Amino acid sequence: MAHDNSQSYQPSYSTRPTLRVDLPQIRINYEALKLKVGVAKIGASIKADAYGLGAVPVAKTLYGAGCRIFFVATAGEGKMVRDGVGPNAAIYVLNGPAPRDKGVLLGAKLKPVINSLEQARYWADVSRSINEPPYTAIHIDTGMNRLGLSFDDVVELGRDKSMWSALNPEWVMSHLACASDAENPMNKTQLARFRKAAAQLPLTPLSLANTAGIYLGKPYHFQMVRPGIGLYGGVATNKPEQEIGRPVATLMAPILQVKWVKAGEAIGYNGTYIAPRDMRVAIVGAGYADGVPVSMSNKGTAILHDEEVKIVGRVSMDLTMIDATDANLSVEVGGVVIFRGDHLETEAREAGTLNYELLVRLGQRCRRDYWKPKKKESE
Ligand SMILES: *Cc1c(COP(=O)(O)O)cnc(C)c1O
Repeated sequence: MAHDNSQSYQPSYSTRPTLRVDLPQIRINYEALKLKVGVAKIGASIKADAYGLGAVPVAKTLYGAGCRIFFVATAGEGKMVRDGVGPNAAIYVLNGPAPRDKGVLLGAKLKPVINSLEQARYWADVSRSINEPPYTAIHIDTGMNRLGLSFDDVVELGRDKSMWSALNPEWVMSHLACASDAENPMNKTQLARFRKAAAQLPLTPLSLANTAGIYLGKPYHFQMVRPGIGLYGGVATNKPEQEIGRPVATLMAPILQVKWVKAGEAIGYNGTYIAPRDMRVAIVGAGYADGVPVSMSNKGTAILHDEEVKIVGRVSMDLTMIDATDANLSVEVGGVVIFRGDHLETEAREAGTLNYELLVRLGQRCRRDYWKPKKKESE
């Protein structure tokens, strides 16, 4: 069979990939989670630029849906969100108050999460030195051994009435290590430790659950839950069928060239793929710099015209090759190949990583295309 390597062109296309973010779906996911947790508040986790989707547009969308509590990792992220959503939202900084961030924290009226006695002492001093100090959240480590006060620290803080009132805690929180697996005994252990530690402190609203924690049931909800991945439609537990969030992000990349490769020829860096037959290969304008993991080389999939196509050869920095031999519809320059969307979990598995990591790396170089919520939702 002779193959024609001349190609047809779509009249106009960009060589740059686009990350499409479905903002109305983020709102729908928020409302579904809100319905599920009932009276508990939702503090939205929008750290790391809202998992790569854009902290400001995501925060504005959630604010429009009624969300008034946000969690970011750093003071710099907090300031960006403050500028985006205005004065009426509570913005918590998970990584705690570092002295060099004092100006940003106070200037943008951010609320630090207190993770240690050192941070507690430091921030109590800051609070005493200013008028109208911000509320804080006290973070207890109940077994994850990541950030947070130990039980002994909590006892000490509980005894120090002066420090407690200087800190003005609005929330006492902890974080679950194994909530994606409801059967893991660690969940109940952390729940019990959280209750016991909180009992050492003056009565304060409590928060324990991330997205996965929400699915552990009411006893884990307390007065606020802190979903992140669930707002963005990522699967958070090992029982995806129970989850209500739907995907919001799609990476769309243009076909830059189409060529027939003869059987026996190698494709891509280091020739890791040898064409087993004459193959029609599409060279697509998205690579690992755009968040397509190298680990998907020769095993990942993408979507072309609603059909699954295989990645062939090593993913390179700006380009990925796919096998389009059996594609039923036209394969032409400017055509769109989809790398993400409703198959984030499939791809994470193929890449040997987490859907969280895939998502967060996506937006870094891509043009972002936001679907704006309509002014009045007519649902
Ligand atoms: C990231 C984070 C969350 C949100 O977790 P998801 O699994 O994305 O729902 C909640 N709380 C803390 C402390 C976090 O670091």
